[in-house]
Amino acid sequence: MRDATSPALLFAITAFLLCPPPTVTGQSNTQNTSQRSSNPKPVLRIAKGLNNDGSLAKYYQRGLDYAIKYFGNHGPYFVYLLGPDSEQSVRDIYSQRARSRVDPNSKQSAMEQMEAFLEQPNIRAEIQAVLSGKAEGGLTWTQEAPILYEDVTTNAKQRELDPMENTWGALHEYHHVFQMAHCDTRQPRTSEKNINSWMAEGMATYSSAKFMENMGLIDFKKYMLQLRKSGGNIGRPSINEFLSNTERWQLEDETYWDGGESPQVYYMLGAWATAYLIHVQGVPEVVVLKNWYKDIPRIGKSAAFRKHMGVSLADFYKRFGVFIRQPDTAVMKIFEP
Ligand SMILES: [Zn+2]
Repeated sequence: MRDATSPALLFAITAFLLCPPPTVTGQSNTQNTSQRSSNPKPVLRIAKGLNNDGSLAKYYQRGLDYAIKYFGNHGPYFVYLLGPDSEQSVRDIYSQRARSRVDPNSKQSAMEQMEAFLEQPNIRAEIQAVLSGKAEGGLTWTQEAPILYEDVTTNAKQRELDPMENTWGALHEYHHVFQMAHCDTRQPRTSEKNINSWMAEGMATYSSAKFMENMGLIDFKKYMLQLRKSGGNIGRPSINEFLSNTERWQLEDETYWDGGESPQVYYMLGAWATAYLIHVQGVPEVVVLKNWYKDIPRIGKSAAFRKHMGVSLADFYKRFGVFIRQPDTAVMKIFEP
């Protein structure tokens, strides 16, 4: 799935890159979420050969603007839309990227820090992927000073050709930026200070589809039904296939990343779990997608969930497990007014 270039797998590819531990730079060991309110605007860095008519940036920005209006401005956030046409341009952009990660309080000089970043095996491999036209991508972030978020697409040609997926991906990744700004990602996803994969991916899958509909670009209900029947733009197996082949599963199980066969659980079942909270549990959409996260650093995930959703996580998992096993026509009723 990593090598897939089809836009249908864009989010699945993203998943694999969101999952592994993010790149960490800097010496300081502080992560202060309260200092992130006055952030500069996101920076788009686009390699030569892309965006000649301005449409790549335009359709990315359309999604980003919508998401920032909804979630607020969190960052610093850098968006790298890369391609293989000009090696010099790519190397210049990676130098800028290295500079953005310099920690002024480090004992190492800025030059030493930049060189160390560019020499990291994963960064060298990523540059090679860009230059050979390989499509990879996803969100990464630093866990130590300077805290920043990055959306990296190694071959953005596909994005350029598909304005819809371009906008959709921008919406999806920015929800992660908001989420990560309220989590301690140094902790495991099972911990109280970090969110489970279904919360990260499911809520971002739900929000990005809902926002796409709000922008007049897709039919949200049709999309939610697709996740059950075909897997939509997430991939196979669909929810119905997965449930009919899997007797026992758990939304909060963090091992579905392993082997790469079932991460769709987090995306598709996670999106439906989000729908359950909004349309069955009756929690306002903005509380589920946004407000409850703000209490996670203060009181922890379980307490924040109970406070805002009106149900404990354990009870929610039980009720949702029964709900999602119903036929398509029954579950689709939740979207009726
Ligand atoms: Zn994601």
